[in-house]
Amino acid sequence: MMPHSIVSEQVIPLLQALIQNACINTGDDDSGEETRSIETIQSFLREYNIDSRFYYSRPDRANLVARIRGTDPMAPSLGYMGHVDVVPADADDWSRDPFGGELVDGEVWGRGSVDMLGMVSCFTSAFASLADPDRQPPGDVLLIIVSDEEAGGTFGARHLVEHHWDEIKCDYMITEVGGLQIVTDDGPAITLTVGEKGVCWARLRFRGIPGHGSMPYRSDNAARTASDALVRIANASTPRVMTPLIRSMAHAFFQGPLEHVLSRFPGCFDLALSRLYRRDPGKARFLDTASRMTISPGVLRGGSKVNIVPDRAELELDIRILPGQTVEHTQAVLLDALGPLSENVEIEFFEFFPANISERDTALWHATERICDELLPDTHIVPMYMGGVTDGRYWRQRGTTVYGFAANSPLLSMDQFSRRIHGIDERIDLRSLELNTEYLMRLPFELRST
Ligand SMILES: [Zn+2]
Repeated sequence: MMPHSIVSEQVIPLLQALIQNACINTGDDDSGEETRSIETIQSFLREYNIDSRFYYSRPDRANLVARIRGTDPMAPSLGYMGHVDVVPADADDWSRDPFGGELVDGEVWGRGSVDMLGMVSCFTSAFASLADPDRQPPGDVLLIIVSDEEAGGTFGARHLVEHHWDEIKCDYMITEVGGLQIVTDDGPAITLTVGEKGVCWARLRFRGIPGHGSMPYRSDNAARTASDALVRIANASTPRVMTPLIRSMAHAFFQGPLEHVLSRFPGCFDLALSRLYRRDPGKARFLDTASRMTISPGVLRGGSKVNIVPDRAELELDIRILPGQTVEHTQAVLLDALGPLSENVEIEFFEFFPANISERDTALWHATERICDELLPDTHIVPMYMGGVTDGRYWRQRGTTVYGFAANSPLLSMDQFSRRIHGIDERIDLRSLELNTEYLMRLPFELRST
């Protein structure tokens, strides 16, 4: 069957069903109830006589793994990995029902169409096409569909990786957040995410001396200390780390001779970045976070009553780290930024995951390039390093080459993607579904070890 009929007969109906299942992950343990969508995928696979297995840590939050055996035991294995939970959507803000899955003017509308039920539908249909005995791939292909990505993957990817690694390990993996079309000085390009920054969340506690709010003379106010700390940290600058990967990204994002020249001199990079920000704030934010440790104050908490001088205050920081940056390093950066305030602070790191990057010169990269040369002629691939995290990190951390990629059409630009993901009127065009399905159908056969 040709990809366009696969899209109309399989991908679209599956995508609509997944949107209508509305597996909304609020972050509460009993939200999501992804087992509904996991069962939808299981019945889809059954029609092609493909068996799948469920893995749970909670019955209402299943994960699915299916495998098609390759013909050559030496050939590398490939995983298609996606999540079926979505973030909430407020119907009042949308032009159409966020959980209707309507097909209007060549687009499927609904929460999750971009993040990432569209991709999951393409994964599943392309995977099912391998059940045809005439289309047996050289290496094993795995379909891994998980729950709970939107809250960090505790019941989904993390559970699978920690408890069932042997059943889900693979050499190469395709997952979300990539395939965004951008315009560069070298012509049209599409992004491929090769890595993610690490997470190092910190809680800073400050103590003061309680007293009556009517007599604040020389009081030791913990809320004031925390506010001073926030300003110091927000003003501190962390150094840029310009690796070849970040240079490639910068080369694709900057435009015009002036920006390119400025960006090459370490002292002038930020000048080029602020020019980029005026033209395209989204790209500037991507590039900034990719090139340095970022510290974003997220919560400031202090005081209990208006007429009491606060004796306790807390500051929570969302810190995203680069490869090689550790908790100890982050602590040193914070103490340095705090200056004199560092003497009375207690720092607790309450979440840590290291930065992770996959190589670029791999069989998966070259196979993707060969297929895209045909599907998206004149469009070159730009490697991206991301500030946010996906479930891909759990595999990358264990040595799998993981790329965030989809062969989307030019209609899914980086700008459109950023607006729609977790935003209003999320929708995906049929051409993207078609191109991506074709890419995924061909990939297992293009993938050769280098
Ligand atoms: Zn996602």
